[in-house]
Amino acid sequence: MNIPPLNELHIHESPALRAIAETFDVTSALVPSLAFRMVELAREADGIGLAGPQIGLPYRVIVCKLQEQWSFLMNPRIVWISHHRVGAAEGCLSLPGIKVNVVRPCAVRVAHTMADRSIRSIEACDLAARVLQHEIDHLDGILITDRGLSGGIEPVGGG
Ligand SMILES: [Zn+2]
Repeated sequence: MNIPPLNELHIHESPALRAIAETFDVTSALVPSLAFRMVELAREADGIGLAGPQIGLPYRVIVCKLQEQWSFLMNPRIVWISHHRVGAAEGCLSLPGIKVNVVRPCAVRVAHTMADRSIRSIEACDLAARVLQHEIDHLDGILITDRGLSGGIEPVGGG
């Protein structure tokens, strides 16, 4: 796994934002420093979430501020979404100056992999659910401008 220097936020037309991120090696010794650096970059940019591709890191890792605490999630994936959806204006550190009204499920369950390769899941609603969905979108090269006003994601599993 090749970790590039993590100093730069990729914005607008950067191809890094459109690539499908690869599975992250959860056993990497770089996990603590990477998690620390991603949180630092997100905070410096006054954000509440950041995904690997936004800093040119082509792997499936995100940091999110959930309930006032920063979480570093490796290989996160949405395994359940609520039927109920709501629209709200979203910004993105990679799209400065742009706000898009995005309709998303109000609640989600996200599975992620721990350093010992075990799978955990977290449930989130409201803003935390929105941040998780937004950051996981980045791992698949999806931006808020793709979701648009009438956007939304299709139910997975039992919905
Ligand atoms: Zn974003």
